[in-house]
Amino acid sequence: MDQSARNQYQILFERMLRCMADFEHFDREEFVRVLRELAALFRLSKGVTEFYQTVRAEKDGEGEVMIDYDTGKKDHPVLRHRILSRSKSVIISTLYMADDENPLEEEEREKLDLILRVLVHFIARNRFEDSVEKLGYYDDDGYPNTRFYLRFLDSLIEQGSLPAYTAACFNLRSFSAVNQEFGRKTGDLVFRNYFDALQAAAGDDGVVCRMGGDNFVMAFKKALTEKVLGLLSGTPVICDPKSGQRLLVSASAGILNIPAEEPAPEPGDIMGRAFAAMLAAKQNKETPVVYYDKEMISERKKTVQIHLLFPKALENNEFKVFYQPKVDIDTGKIVGAEALCRWFRDGHMVPPGEFIPVLERTSEICRLDFHMLELVCRDIRRWLDEGRQLVRVSVNLSRKHLSDVDLREHILEIVDRYQVPHESIEIELTETATEVGFQSLKRVAEELQKSGFCISVDDFGMGYSSLNLIREIPWNVLKIDRCFLPTDDEPEGSTTSLMYGHVIAMARDIGLECISEGVETPKQVEILRKNQCRLAQGFLYDKPLAVEDFELRLSQGYYRKGS
Ligand code: C2E
Ligand code: MG
Ligand code: MG
Repeated sequence: MDQSARNQYQILFERMLRCMADFEHFDREEFVRVLRELAALFRLSKGVTEFYQTVRAEKDGEGEVMIDYDTGKKDHPVLRHRILSRSKSVIISTLYMADDENPLEEEEREKLDLILRVLVHFIARNRFEDSVEKLGYYDDDGYPNTRFYLRFLDSLIEQGSLPAYTAACFNLRSFSAVNQEFGRKTGDLVFRNYFDALQAAAGDDGVVCRMGGDNFVMAFKKALTEKVLGLLSGTPVICDPKSGQRLLVSASAGILNIPAEEPAPEPGDIMGRAFAAMLAAKQNKETPVVYYDKEMISERKKTVQIHLLFPKALENNEFKVFYQPKVDIDTGKIVGAEALCRWFRDGHMVPPGEFIPVLERTSEICRLDFHMLELVCRDIRRWLDEGRQLVRVSVNLSRKHLSDVDLREHILEIVDRYQVPHESIEIELTETATEVGFQSLKRVAEELQKSGFCISVDDFGMGYSSLNLIREIPWNVLKIDRCFLPTDDEPEGSTTSLMYGHVIAMARDIGLECISEGVETPKQVEILRKNQCRLAQGFLYDKPLAVEDFELRLSQGYYRKGS
């Protein structure tokens, strides 16, 4: 090597190191330029880098090969450097020289070897950063994950551009049906295409990330909201590239217009608010898109709190049974009672509307129902032992029990443990929306009836009542929901009034016992009487009563006529 070549090498080597040192603003063009000049200085014909995930992959020749430059001449390898990373992946760089080129001098070989070593470690580090990025910020299917999302929001906060953005959290609607009907592969394709469409709508300065399953989060410029909401509300997505067949895909979405607050809201907070709005959207069958409001977070906190407190509350006997009498309107006699749950927490009574729907989202409600049945059986046992007059008591069973194949055994175990006559227990079940649900309801109702329990359909007319429900299942009692009972100012010939009369007539003709729920006024009692519905339950007679008050009522035995 002559002095001028040495000088040139020195300059190029320094330029190369400078490029590598400025990692944050890595100048790729300069780097490639330097490497080419170095290759020319050392008369190289080709440079090749190979990447292998494992040593075995290296052996099998299954990796990635990158040709860094190539003069196309016939050549042979002159230097090779291989490194094995700590995670046992392999990187090999090889330099070639044309066959007709002057061979490397010893000094040249030493210098080139140094360059190659530095270079391979630099490539390895870059590669490692890429895999860390992939591992940390993408999920197994290659979608950016929540960490990616939070980092994106962080960068918006840093730039001060957060208030220009809208955040969304969404869940694909009925996506399991797509998987079931068209297969997993098609499902994945639809998923990917929908994701790409949303990413395109969010633009280069927006992101779509997967939280897990079919839950996603997005952030996009406020000006794009309408476009994105259009896609979320429903858009056709290709499910078969060959035929061009498309499926309509939509999502339940929670939207948060990020406010210009000082200090800026935390990224985790933004995600939490959009998520709370999405939960509300999921419960809202009509509007699939719901905007965030403050109440949602407190709702969510309450929900989490209930799930947290429930097991201990059950252990501490915080759940009590209240009894609401069922009355024969002609005699004023108490003919039965419904057991309703009350939660006493820190001296306050929590109404069922606040915790039953929450517990119904998991199977915790089943534990509560069995607990209630046990409390009822304990009371009945005591009434029997004390020689009191007994009335039939109904307990509510959530729909969640329908998938329990041992439900009858569970119920029998409790009732028989207290030696309570089966006919003094009535089980209230509610209607279901699906065919599968209907078949389970039929099975459960038949089994329980065979075991001697009385079974009733609760809240009839409220939800998905079908006449099939009445025809196919051998109910003993029809409990007509209070929304069916005409109010005092309801005109006589109104649809509600007419339907009410016809439902009762139908029940009577079939031989079903019929009871009206939510009777609040004497005028309503008159309506019952006129339509020959003899049984009533409602505030006019009594609210649900604590056990001592109910026992007092029972010992009186009846209400003053018409009260
Ligand atoms: P439900 O089974 O339809 O019970 C009747 C509800 O109507 C009770 O509400 C009762 O207090 C209320 N009610 C009775 N008469 C009147 C009236 O005249 N006017 C009005 N406005 N309301 C009246 P509650 O006790 O708040 O229970 C609400 C629902 O919570 C129940 O509806 C039932 O679905 C559920 N629930 C209560 N306890 C249990 C339980 O132990 N297990 C299960 N699975 N659900 C329960
Ligand atoms: Mg009920
Ligand atoms: Mg009811």
